[in-house]
Amino acid sequence: MLTSFDSIKGQEKAKHLLDTAIRNDRISHAYLFKGPAGVGKKMTAHALAALLNCHAPQGMTVCASCPACKKFNSGNHPDFHLIEPEGAGIKIGQIRELQKNLAFPPFEAKTRVILIPDIHDTMGRPEVANALLKTLEEPPADTMLILTGDEAGHILPTILSRCQVIPFTPLPLEDVAALLTHEDRQRAMTLAAIAEGSPGRARRQEEHGFLDTRQAIIEILTSTDKNSPSLVSQVYAMAHQSAELKDDAEELLDLLTSWIRDLIILRSDAPRSTHLINQDLANLPEAAESWSTSAMMKCLDAIATARQQLKRNCNRTLVFEVLFFALLDEKW
Ligand SMILES: [Zn+2]
Repeated sequence: MLTSFDSIKGQEKAKHLLDTAIRNDRISHAYLFKGPAGVGKKMTAHALAALLNCHAPQGMTVCASCPACKKFNSGNHPDFHLIEPEGAGIKIGQIRELQKNLAFPPFEAKTRVILIPDIHDTMGRPEVANALLKTLEEPPADTMLILTGDEAGHILPTILSRCQVIPFTPLPLEDVAALLTHEDRQRAMTLAAIAEGSPGRARRQEEHGFLDTRQAIIEILTSTDKNSPSLVSQVYAMAHQSAELKDDAEELLDLLTSWIRDLIILRSDAPRSTHLINQDLANLPEAAESWSTSAMMKCLDAIATARQQLKRNCNRTLVFEVLFFALLDEKW
């Protein structure tokens, strides 16, 4: 798909920095687009690659009809390379292959673009990052490397120091909500808040029906009948359903964290105007009475433990079973 700078929502600072660099002919050969997931970093990389290679750009807008634009539009420009992990992370062989290819000139592009996304996650082994350093230090003159990385994640300082960093930020919640297809405005705003201003995350949560899942989990957690025979089977079913989310299961933990934080705020002396993420839930005040503040802190610890276990590829169903029972135990 041909991406134009005009279609990127928000990110005024990032767009301004790139725009200034292009206008002044001071483009860097290695960029790190740094910021949270799902706010438009990869999209901007695509837009930049298309713009730099368009035969007749108007300012920051691509012409959409030249041969280069057509190739970007069909997703097969021969000089745009996306390097994604094969398995758990990027392999050293992939970097070596890239370096071999870079020894040759681009097929047709003015600027060949290499996009390596999510390096906080994909540069698992130090030798892979070290191999990449050489290329980052001296990329060929007709080549630009664009790395993207999550602010919260770990990015090696050696990589950081060799790239020009372009900051990306969460979008205002209203803008994220407007990008969702949800008819219910309150629910769209809730999704935007849970996704912390990331349209990409909000869309994924919408696709997976996260709000319904949240509802189901909270119904179990706020159950008042400790000895209900159906409660245990509900927990097992919910754990199974949560595990089915596979790589997105961690997002459920973010959702639970936001809910517990809201309960802590409600129990504290914080002014009522303090922003509650899950304010669409009518039973929030009752739920806040179910746990003591110290029990809620333990709940947050239990969620953190579950997160570590998911990262270590523990059995997902088991992780959620243990978590849900731990949260219920803190209540009773
Ligand atoms: Zn063009």
